[in-house]
Amino acid sequence: MCAIVGIFGNEKASRLASLALFSMQHRGQEATGISSSSDGKIYTIKNRGLVSEVFDNNALEYLKGNMAIGHNRYSTAGGDSILDAQPVFAKYKLGEISIVHNGNLINKKAVRQELIDNGAIFQTGMDTENLVHLIAKNSKDRLRDRIKEALDKTIGAYCFIIQSRSKQFVIRDRYGIRPLSIGKLKSGGYIVASETCAFDLVDAEFIRDVRPGEMLIFSEKVEEPESIQLYEPEYRPCAFEYVYFARPDSVIDGKSVYKAREDMGKTLAINDRGNDIKIDMVIPVPDSGVPAAIGYAAESGIPFELGIIRNHYVGRTFIEPTQEMRDLKVKMKLSPMKSLIAGKSLLVIDDSIVRGTTSRRIVKILKEAGAKEVHFRVASPEIKFPCYYGIDTPTKEELISHRMNKEEIREHIQADTLEYLSIEDLKNSIGNDRNYALESFDGDYFVTK
Ligand code: AMP
Repeated sequence: MCAIVGIFGNEKASRLASLALFSMQHRGQEATGISSSSDGKIYTIKNRGLVSEVFDNNALEYLKGNMAIGHNRYSTAGGDSILDAQPVFAKYKLGEISIVHNGNLINKKAVRQELIDNGAIFQTGMDTENLVHLIAKNSKDRLRDRIKEALDKTIGAYCFIIQSRSKQFVIRDRYGIRPLSIGKLKSGGYIVASETCAFDLVDAEFIRDVRPGEMLIFSEKVEEPESIQLYEPEYRPCAFEYVYFARPDSVIDGKSVYKAREDMGKTLAINDRGNDIKIDMVIPVPDSGVPAAIGYAAESGIPFELGIIRNHYVGRTFIEPTQEMRDLKVKMKLSPMKSLIAGKSLLVIDDSIVRGTTSRRIVKILKEAGAKEVHFRVASPEIKFPCYYGIDTPTKEELISHRMNKEEIREHIQADTLEYLSIEDLKNSIGNDRNYALESFDGDYFVTK
């Protein structure tokens, strides 16, 4: 998962990078870091914790210079030690570089083994470090050529920003699986960020998405970034960004994430037409189910109510190591509005069911609070396959839809009815004008280069 940002040509570079990271905190809360570059030297601060905890005034003063790159970490590859925080910094023959990465490199083990066999020493468990070694070992004179040849050996989903002492190189893989957009800062210079929601906070104007297979080079010598098409694009944007991961106020590939989620909810309502169940109110699982529940309510004419209240001081339930801890956290996080729901028939919408922890718990607390019926609707198809392209999903065995069919899941979560979107419905809700990356739903692991 993770978020990356690059700021180029602005004297407040590290401050703007920290603001952008703050607005993309939802993409990773484990660790954060920024590297700036000034007078031929790269400065880096990274640590475990949230952006607001790691970057105080002192840290931002230290990170001087008019260019900076930053990262929020959500561990999908590597461990959770501080060594696995980014940016990854290194000194090598051509000077100093620092790298941030969003995505997952699927041939990381083979590449790492080959490097180790040839004497390389690794400091971290991260796939990102492979790229540092590949760049350092290359003998080309120009960094851009070294990067290209390193990428030729790299298979996977990636957005990289590589900062040297005077330039920034921005790269998106040929499939464009993870989002990456470029904007112009009103106070001068450019921003590149995983999500456009970062642009609003730093006062930047959206220019365009970085193209799949494109490398952008920001350099002090030229006004505009240079664009090189490294690879033939085979665009496959990730559908799960629209389902769950991205912030609703972001726009990916020209499409509003909020609107896509609302349309997913509308489609669920259209699919429910003709059902003879009587529903008193539509209730979202906060926060991720809210836009879909709004869409469902608008389409069906059934009132929208906040029947579940979320405690915002509890972190994510998903990354807790044991099932017992995950169960307790869901309970601490979500509480039913008893007075509202007692005796009522509810239609509850969440964006996805992964292990089934959240949905089972929610049905339980709603029924204990007196709900007469709980009809569960999921604004995505059944997740049957793990994602290897940068979304944190558990192993196949832990995915409830891998082990059980829809009726068994309904029984397991104790819902009165359960419905998902079909894959076609999902594609149509996003716009159906692209060949989306849908591997969690259909098992099509298409990344081969
Ligand atoms: P589960 O309780 O395992 O079924 O997970 C489903 C809940 O986790 C839903 O409420 C989703 O909003 C949320 N979710 C889905 N995918 C992810 C993910 N990759 N990381 C964190 N949370 C997720």
